Amino acid sequence: MQFEPVIGLEVHAQLKTLSKIFCGCSTQFGSPPNANTCPVCTGMPGVLPVLNKHAVTFAIRAALATQCRINQESRFDRKNYFYPDLPKGYQISQYALPIAEHGFLEIETKAGGNKTIGITRIHMEEDAGKLIHDPARARSMVDLNRTGVPLIEIVSEPDIRTAREAGAYLRKLHAILKYIDVCDGNMEEGSFRCDANISLRPKGQKEFGIRSELKNLNSFKNVEKAILYEIERQTYILEEGKQVIQETRLWDPSRNKTTSMRSKEEAHDYRYFPDPDLVPLIVDDHWIQEVKKDMPELPDAKKSRFIQDYKLSEYDAEVLTSSIDLADFFETAARPLKDKKPAANWVMTNILGMLNNKGISILESPVTAIAFSKLLTLVEKGKINANTAKTIFEEMVETKKDPEIIVKEKGLEQVSNLSELETMVMAVIDKNPDEVALYRDGKTRLFSFFMGKIMKETLGKADPEIITTILKSKL
Ligand code: ADP
Ligand code: MG
Ligand code: ZN
Repeated sequence: MQFEPVIGLEVHAQLKTLSKIFCGCSTQFGSPPNANTCPVCTGMPGVLPVLNKHAVTFAIRAALATQCRINQESRFDRKNYFYPDLPKGYQISQYALPIAEHGFLEIETKAGGNKTIGITRIHMEEDAGKLIHDPARARSMVDLNRTGVPLIEIVSEPDIRTAREAGAYLRKLHAILKYIDVCDGNMEEGSFRCDANISLRPKGQKEFGIRSELKNLNSFKNVEKAILYEIERQTYILEEGKQVIQETRLWDPSRNKTTSMRSKEEAHDYRYFPDPDLVPLIVDDHWIQEVKKDMPELPDAKKSRFIQDYKLSEYDAEVLTSSIDLADFFETAARPLKDKKPAANWVMTNILGMLNNKGISILESPVTAIAFSKLLTLVEKGKINANTAKTIFEEMVETKKDPEIIVKEKGLEQVSNLSELETMVMAVIDKNPDEVALYRDGKTRLFSFFMGKIMKETLGKADPEIITTILKSKL
């Protein structure tokens, strides 16, 4: 029997506010343990939460960027459970009435088209703290710095069908949240976390099958690998004629497999109820309009603009707008250039290749967008040729030097003085009479032989276009 995977994703994104969601404590990552705490976020008796307006503004931004409908009135609820990283004994979240619902985003499919993935809801909540287990001394420690840091949870419809689509959805959502500057997107620090729900159903069947929920997916690659593994595991169970059990499973990246964490029977009953300490949250049209006014350009809009204004291909525009940092780098580098297409090629091959080799992000690039722009300008103005530019680029990566300085220091300026070039071409022609005879006899493939000789003579500093013209006329 043929099975079809059904996948829905839940993403927790940490909002980039300076202070926590219900108190004034700092959200700074990496502070000394428990430095960012107060009676409110440590759950002391008698304290009252006060909602952080910026957190709401960020949630509205995320809702608008994902085409969600914003609920004019939403509520905060208590999700009750006991765990030492949550001293209140409950987490403040939104349950029955979230801030936003019914959104979507578009992903690129493998075939090159678009697919719409529904977003069920976005709700706001507070994060829990962190437990640090110390098996050597048989003790556990708790760090409450993260307790009360604002999160939004973005829940997708079960519209995703493959691991690849799941990866595309997550990358797109991640890009959007970074574009609108509400989340730093750092997956290693847990600012962007994903749970994946997966079930299989016989092809053609309408009802969904029984799902498992995967946790601990802290990179795009791991999400894709975990889903592939889970599809295989469930296919095997169903083909044996057995039933998948509803459970939460943990992805183990070192063993490349998922293991059971808890079954449905062990699932908590959270006894949600409206938090009596917080009044309903009212988001009126005025507020939404204010947020709309400040909305930056979104990935899809930027992509269309790159295609329109810079005459880039669909593919190039897609790659260059895949992250706001890359898009900014490209635009800064290409700004002074007349033709943006070579700049796109240079960024996509040389810059991305170099970052990939070094395993660093564009923000850590040893070559700044401005320095890179100078290099591309030298090429566009014909001061250096593309080969020389590659050599200079390598040196820029090594030394972080300005390209103009490298050109001066090494005397790499392109020779474009016509009479000088003609002399060089004639010298090569005179030295190779046999090849000249053959060429004139019809062996035109020898053209590259002459080109090679001349480029060698000029140490690659000659403009190949001019050389081609001169050589053709002399031959
Ligand atoms: P819970 O909060 O218990 O995890 P939800 O109903 O909120 O349950 O669903 C969470 C996620 O699981 C959503 O993204 C949803 O699309 C997805 N989902 C629900 N049912 C299935 C299913 N049978 N197979 C795959 N995904 C599912
Ligand atoms: Mg869930
Ligand atoms: Zn606090």
